[in-house]
Amino acid sequence: MTAIGIVGLGLIGGSLGLDFRALGHRVLGVSRKQETCDRALARGVVDAASLSLSLMQEADIVFLCTPLSVMEATLIELRPHLTPDAIVTDVGSVKGWVMEAIAPYWANFIGGHPMAGTAESGIEAAQKDLFVGCTYVLTPSPSAPEASIQRLIKLIQPLQAEVLQCLPEEHDRAVAWISHLPVMVSASLITACLSEPNAAVLKLAETLASSGFRDTSRVGGGNPELGVMMATYNKLALVQALYAYRHQLNQVIADIEQDHWATLQDTLTQTQTARSRFQRLS
Ligand code: NAP
Repeated sequence: MTAIGIVGLGLIGGSLGLDFRALGHRVLGVSRKQETCDRALARGVVDAASLSLSLMQEADIVFLCTPLSVMEATLIELRPHLTPDAIVTDVGSVKGWVMEAIAPYWANFIGGHPMAGTAESGIEAAQKDLFVGCTYVLTPSPSAPEASIQRLIKLIQPLQAEVLQCLPEEHDRAVAWISHLPVMVSASLITACLSEPNAAVLKLAETLASSGFRDTSRVGGGNPELGVMMATYNKLALVQALYAYRHQLNQVIADIEQDHWATLQDTLTQTQTARSRFQRLS
């Protein structure tokens, strides 16, 4: 049994708590609001909950599950409460910034990102088995001992997640392509539709929208704070991906304007095949 600390009892922190408790670990939770702590206890997410980070003095491994914007301040405040050999990890969706700005505060820090989620947030959104079948990325600090990395991997694997280690910059470029770029593209699609000048046509489009629009607009219609967070903390990789996307869009426009149907056919044939390379879609 490991004493696991979770700071930030929302969708990800709460879901980790439910699973770790089910696996027999002792889970200690800290959150910002008392009502969240009360709900976490009532829902069986944690064994003990507090507003005070002093609860983390018992923890062997602490998961930082707050929004990225408060993670640095949280670790600074948490540090005096930790035992010297405690492992600290996070679940933030961006890893370059975390490893640069936060990891230096704790030598035994291992960056993490479970590639799982839902459109909901907060303690009520926490659910069991959220991580089953997902990839759980780890980006260890160079200063983190191998024994700590192995210990964290052994803790995560029973969540039935596939653990993968990579460099923070590689993680951020990869998630820019498959997560952050799609949000901006999907949001731009919705905005572009809204620019239809004829009110009757726009109304008709709203009425006719069906499964295709539902699929392509889904991530653009999500939580605005998450979209801004991606852009803020993964700015470089996201802008590069957006430039590449704009270049590709210009190519498609040119093919259509110039009746280059064979070229368009080739492009769409390639994308039809290539889509299955993005593993979890196949
Ligand atoms: P969330 O549901 O909003 O949960 C975050 C929780 O953190 C909130 O419920 C809030 O609890 C708590 N919190 C906020 N400020 C705090 C503070 N100063 N001290 C302690 N607790 C604080 O968000 P989430 O989706 O779980 O995201 C959390 C982290 O997971 C983020 O860093 C995000 O990048 C990462 N992530 C998200 C997803 C996703 O799909 N959503 C996927 C993978 C990773 P109170 O109710 O007490 O205010």
